[in-house]
Amino acid sequence: MYIVMVAPECAPVAKVGGLGDVVFGLSRELELRGNAVEIVLPRYDCMRSEQVWGLQVSHEDLWVPWAGDAIRCTVWFGYVHGRKCFFVEPHSKQAYFDRGTYYGFWDDPERFAFFSKAALEFMLRTGKRPDVIHTHDWQTGLVPVLLYEMYAAAGLDTQRVCHTIHNFRHQGVTGPQILAATGLGRPEHFGAPDRMGDDLDHHAINITRGAILYSNFVTTVSPHHAWEVRHTDVGFGLGPTLYRHQAKFGGILNGLDYEMWNPEIDPHLPQRYGAASIAQKAINTRVLRQKMLLREGNRPILSYVGRLDTQKGLHLIRHAIFYALEHNAQFVLLGSGSEHGINEDFWYLKRRLNDHPDCHLEIGYDEDLAHLIYAGADLLVMPSLYEPCGLSQMIALRYGTVPIVRSVGGLRDTVFDWDWSERPRSERNGFVFDHADVAGIDSALDRAVGLWRNEPDQFRQLVLQGMACDYSWNHPGRDYLNVYELIRHK
Ligand code: ADP
Repeated sequence: MYIVMVAPECAPVAKVGGLGDVVFGLSRELELRGNAVEIVLPRYDCMRSEQVWGLQVSHEDLWVPWAGDAIRCTVWFGYVHGRKCFFVEPHSKQAYFDRGTYYGFWDDPERFAFFSKAALEFMLRTGKRPDVIHTHDWQTGLVPVLLYEMYAAAGLDTQRVCHTIHNFRHQGVTGPQILAATGLGRPEHFGAPDRMGDDLDHHAINITRGAILYSNFVTTVSPHHAWEVRHTDVGFGLGPTLYRHQAKFGGILNGLDYEMWNPEIDPHLPQRYGAASIAQKAINTRVLRQKMLLREGNRPILSYVGRLDTQKGLHLIRHAIFYALEHNAQFVLLGSGSEHGINEDFWYLKRRLNDHPDCHLEIGYDEDLAHLIYAGADLLVMPSLYEPCGLSQMIALRYGTVPIVRSVGGLRDTVFDWDWSERPRSERNGFVFDHADVAGIDSALDRAVGLWRNEPDQFRQLVLQGMACDYSWNHPGRDYLNVYELIRHK
């Protein structure tokens, strides 16, 4: 099959979050399975160009019709760790992608609507006729709309679209002027409540809603999250729309990059290890303690690695820190926050616990330290309020660090409780709790720390069962191909 990914990110050249990892990892898996994959991205001025091999101009003059005029673009081509990537560079006074950072501008909807249109124009003009176009999040949500409303008549008439929603909180809600700029026009038609009109702001256009209506198939990043967004409030208003279209909606778990996250070959680690040499993990634990200035001793290390965002259940992470200190355990946190108030809170907590021999809070983004924590800790907490998929728990499992998670989204699909689960005992890999409150997380922390302390052999068995799980791209790659096959013949 011939697949074109149209995406706002691709790791490691242009990555803000998990979306970038998915675009890269899925593309690689699809190619390994014998498919032809190309990725179309904006050419950001801030992207890591050193990660692109052989970057050169592929098309000099791509004129993209826009707002009654046209904008000239240069399209570049290069390989990102083997993946074929095209980068669209518009030459316009708005400098859409020359802003020093990826997102966060008042005209983000306009920037990415332009990119969506440019990607289609590029395919049309260069004779690219993929079987499937795979789009990602609201930034590329207008691709299916423009494809069926405009580009099918121009020659892209056999292309099918799979759209993946990585995060329902950001939907691309914008004013109707976007319709005029793209050439769609007819605001009364497209802005109607049963089309792209937003449910909350009746004068606005909801790009994600358009993507759901016009795509041949819509996915989100785990099966349980696919259920939650239809039946609970984590669909952020899109539940009823998804419910109506559920025949073409499903959840496919993200994969983890097993080349990057592999304790047997991980160059970041002071000591590499695998399931057969699990005792060596203790050397990483010792180095972690030294680095974090924690005292030596026979205590479990609890950890958290991730963004400091309300989504992650910050009050419960905070509680877990004090739980560890009150139960003769240790806690290491590596967290990065973008909100001022949240950062302040954690800086205050850090100062308060600064000299504590059993606790270290590191605030910021640190790739090296993240690897060391996954390798050196015994337990990792993830008490998320909602979690579309979650990667940290999968990384922890691979590194023999037992996850303690709340039973939401992708966490529920990947972590199975040691004591109570429908899975057979031999497939259980962590600790799970339901309620986002202190009693909830305590019920899991008590059992986790208790098992570590009182039943070391069983704890070791749990560690090994976690390491035996396969959360690579192998299964998700197959699932996406099944979706492509399904829509291709529609
Ligand atoms: P989300 O996509 O919501 O941020 P995920 O669990 O899906 O959460 O993915 C988080 C990824 O980012 C993991 O690979 C994690 O190790 C990494 N990460 C998050 N915060 C940090 C940080 N402060 N330092 C290093 N790595 C981080």
